[in-house]
Amino acid sequence: MNESKEVRHDRENPYAAKLIARKRLNKFGSNKSVFRLTFDIGELEYICGDTLAVYPKNEGSEVDPILNILQLPKDSRIEIRNNSYLIRDALIEKFCITHLTKRFLDAFARKLTDQDRSVFAEIFRGEKENQYSLLELLTRFLAVKINSDELCRLLKKMPPRLYSIASSKNAQGRYLDLIVGAVSYKNFLGNMRQGVASTYLTSRMQIGDFADVYVASSAFRLPSNVSTDIIMVGPGTGLAPFMGFLHEREYLKNFVRDVGHNWLFFGDQHRKFDFLEEDELTRLQRVGVLNILDLAFSRDQEYKIYVQDRMLEKGEELWQWLCNGAYFYVCGDAGRMAIDVKNMLKNIAIRIGGLEEEEANNWLDNLKKTGRYQEDVY
Ligand SMILES: Cc1cc2nc3c(=O)[nH]c(=O)nc-3n(C[C@H](O)[C@H](O)[C@H](O)COP(=O)(O)OP(=O)(O)OC[C@H]3O[C@@H](n4cnc5c(N)ncnc54)[C@H](O)[C@@H]3O)c2cc1C
Repeated sequence: MNESKEVRHDRENPYAAKLIARKRLNKFGSNKSVFRLTFDIGELEYICGDTLAVYPKNEGSEVDPILNILQLPKDSRIEIRNNSYLIRDALIEKFCITHLTKRFLDAFARKLTDQDRSVFAEIFRGEKENQYSLLELLTRFLAVKINSDELCRLLKKMPPRLYSIASSKNAQGRYLDLIVGAVSYKNFLGNMRQGVASTYLTSRMQIGDFADVYVASSAFRLPSNVSTDIIMVGPGTGLAPFMGFLHEREYLKNFVRDVGHNWLFFGDQHRKFDFLEEDELTRLQRVGVLNILDLAFSRDQEYKIYVQDRMLEKGEELWQWLCNGAYFYVCGDAGRMAIDVKNMLKNIAIRIGGLEEEEANNWLDNLKKTGRYQEDVY
């Protein structure tokens, strides 16, 4: 009798995926650090458009001073769900130490002297409360003592981060790609901070290391009718799911004669440094999978050119594709880009399609309702 039982990997039971390759996609001289990472995901299943949830690890160099300040011995242990962990390992893997919750800060404030409490109240007035890391807070209020059990009870659990899957399971089997940009920024104290997961993936993980992951299903999907044309707008790391879409379409071409046409708008800062996946996109053009590639490099000229400007330049053709039933996809920055792209599409419907403003709004709503306008933005 076959006793093997399929194991489900999810948030509670992630899969240990081995990092087998990592390649920097920007060239030397770029302002950005974007990498393609390839993981061996064994038998994990996914569909193009899904995301991979990754549990990152905090830096040991951020955890060690915390243990020193709190005078917690490195060999002390804590219990989490009936498992025993060294406190150092727990702080590296299990808890979020870079963003503190209100619950943590309230409990922390109760430990302060009256004088320190008013300093604390001043610091955390307004929006800043989420920006102090645990180390920054402890360094500011050195006298506060918290034992390991209390610390772990108050800290938020390490949340997984989502990354658009940049490959096709059909085309690449067990080797899954991500395209990840390293996040770094100055916080309000003026300290340089680095995104936990993005720097874990792009620099701290070594080839051969394992990351805890699971597939998070998404509604971002290729059309079920393979002969439908698709238009993809994916600047920066927004390119990721479209590499998966293109490889899936290339795979389908082996079996289906009339796979739909594929049109990609990609953009970034400089063509010389930031044309991510240039070689692969060029190959996909050459073999007839990527039918149209429009590029917008914002800083290569005096005035800024973005993907939405390229959309307008190609407005007639874009409108024709949409009238013929093409699906429209946007991935990447939710802040400005996705809004500008949506406004440009409406603009094209008015200027080129001849719709009134209200008709254009209804047209866009209808595209969304019928799954022909899909966003994967963050
Ligand atoms: C559906 C989805 C798909 C995604 N796909 C991708 C992808 O394909 N590739 C990719 O690279 N990313 C992708 N992301 C983003 C990714 O999940 C992470 O959010 C990103 O990598 C940052 O995580 P981190 O752990 O490095 O940063 P964290 O340690 O979580 O820090 C990020 C936090 O830092 C703060 N912060 C960041 N920048 C600044 C700033 N300039 N000023 C002040 N505060 C700031 C904010 O509070 C922000 O929440 C996706 C997100 C979603 C939701």
